[in-house]
Amino acid sequence: MPGVAKVMKVLEPYKLSGRHVQRERTKVRVGPGTGCIFGGEIVPVVAGPCSVETPEQIVHIAKLLKDAGASALRGGAYKPRTNPFAFQGHGVEGLKMLAEARRVTGLPIVTEVVAVEDVPVVSEYADCLQIGTRNAQNFRLLEAVGRQPRPVLFKRGMSMTVDEYLQAADYILSAGNDQVILCERGIRTFENHTRNTYSLATITELQHRSHLPVVGDPSHGTGHAHLVPAMSKATLACGADGLILEVHHDPRHAWSDGAQSLDPQQFVDLMAQLARIAEAVGKSLAPAVSV
Ligand code: PEP
Ligand code: MN
Repeated sequence: MPGVAKVMKVLEPYKLSGRHVQRERTKVRVGPGTGCIFGGEIVPVVAGPCSVETPEQIVHIAKLLKDAGASALRGGAYKPRTNPFAFQGHGVEGLKMLAEARRVTGLPIVTEVVAVEDVPVVSEYADCLQIGTRNAQNFRLLEAVGRQPRPVLFKRGMSMTVDEYLQAADYILSAGNDQVILCERGIRTFENHTRNTYSLATITELQHRSHLPVVGDPSHGTGHAHLVPAMSKATLACGADGLILEVHHDPRHAWSDGAQSLDPQQFVDLMAQLARIAEAVGKSLAPAVSV
């Protein structure tokens, strides 16, 4: 037909996130003008508490993380909890606390959105919208984050195959947003010494099949702080495009996920080791943010 330069038959079920449509890796920047870019040779580490608890807590942790070299701040204002009586997050007030932590430190914000109706307000405050494992096949929510302008950190569903995961990513891309970061955060298996089974091979497989950047979340992947440093190093050693880690100033008193949260000193020690691992695989850790 006139005007058609090339016809490619795409056999994979995922038509947009697959490597066959784009050889070069997509780069995703979190926060306008920042160096927090996923998909290149410089590797960002996103860190923060599971939940935003108080204004003082999030600013305190954000300052520690910034000094330790984190590239972005994570923290949930809308929490998808297993138990309806557990802390559900502060909602819009939590977003405001995150915005204040960003103002003080310069760290861009990654935070979860759990409902379609909250997408506009989360998009207003956040630099990157997280889709959690429990919503990974909430297709209307995926379309909604696909229609807003911020990048999306899209976690793998806890019982999703790689095929299903990339097809779900296509819901975001097909709605118009190609700024998607994939995230391996572990899947459900029979093994229960870890909270989930964290699959390093899946990180490499996703990079093989998709042009989207891929990060690892060994905090949720393992559920235990004593496993997080080793699995973080392994994540960068296998070539991941970044990490997202839970860090709390007082893990034993965290309002959620304290058992898997590193304390500040553990995070500082880990960052020094991660810098050497990144170098060993031909990359470098993103430099500390300056305000
Ligand atoms: C979180 O990041 O705190 C979270 C709830 O993650 P996941 O969706 O991977 O369980
Ligand atoms: Mn958590």
